[in-house]
Amino acid sequence: MLVVMQEGATEQQIDAVIELMVEMGFNVHRSTGVIHTVLGGVGGKDDFDLAVFEVMEGVKEAHRIISSYKLASRHFRPGGTVVKAGDVEIGGGRVVVMAGPSCVESFEQIERSAEVVARAGATVFRAGAVKPRNSPYSPQTPDEENLKLLRTVADRHGLALVSEVMDHTQVPLLERYADILQVSARNMQNFDLLRELGCSRKPVLLKRGVAATVEELLLSAEYILSGGNYDVILCERGIRTFETYTRNTLDISAIPVVHKLSHLPIVADPSHGTGRRDKVAPMARAAVAAGADGLLIEVHPDPDHALSDGAQSLRPEQFEELMQQLRMIAPAVGRSI
Ligand code: PEP
Ligand code: MN
Repeated sequence: MLVVMQEGATEQQIDAVIELMVEMGFNVHRSTGVIHTVLGGVGGKDDFDLAVFEVMEGVKEAHRIISSYKLASRHFRPGGTVVKAGDVEIGGGRVVVMAGPSCVESFEQIERSAEVVARAGATVFRAGAVKPRNSPYSPQTPDEENLKLLRTVADRHGLALVSEVMDHTQVPLLERYADILQVSARNMQNFDLLRELGCSRKPVLLKRGVAATVEELLLSAEYILSGGNYDVILCERGIRTFETYTRNTLDISAIPVVHKLSHLPIVADPSHGTGRRDKVAPMARAAVAAGADGLLIEVHPDPDHALSDGAQSLRPEQFEELMQQLRMIAPAVGRSI
């Protein structure tokens, strides 16, 4: 359930509502806005009388939420959430570009990548500390030496860092080096990992699974939010359809759908979303036009020789050109880059 307090409601009135919610078995999450305080109640009994809350002092309105995600719902924070990662704000007036190679190959490769993406205007550096694969015979643990390198290079170029955490035991390691912890598409329903990230104080970039609905994505986000970590950034990275010309089908419509249903920011990943370098820029432009809060783009200094995802990685000059185009598109939808 949700209780929206009136403008100027006193702390005493808020406490009284919280007390009653707790008495009814709800776990209460408070969101203090500039004008209104919103109280989200999770897990309480279903058959309570809403009117009991509606008539309490200082209450503006009370709602029973039918959808199974409550904290991720737009009702919880009608004004939207701005996630802060280092100096970068995701979900505000600026479209945030996160760019870099699929994974670390060498110091030179990440150094050159970071230089290229920073010069072109990206503010977050992306790279996996190990390439996650579906095969059980490939390495599955991020390499700490690689994480150290990523941190050094990101700092040198004034970039925040996003990197993937693959299971719950790796959270402390990634927290030490990255500003944003990425959950891959194949891990969207790894509930042990999501629960652990709920206890983290680092922002989480949660990728949509290849066969997940938007509702399932929001339910996965709810796992993290209900643990107390409200800094979740959603990522549309393409879903599996019957189309074979592209690696996945980037669901651009998920962007306005998420904005309507949820207060969480959503970024688009046209690299994994299409799998083809020549399709990345058009889909990146479309995502920004559709209102994406950011982009996740693979850029490699020499994509033809990349260890992974070379075909979908932009060459440095292609990335620079794309950034210039995005600078023209963003103002048309009330944003900047
Ligand atoms: C990635 O961003 O490097 C990645 C592994 O993506 P996804 O989880 O979307 O496949
Ligand atoms: Mn990749």
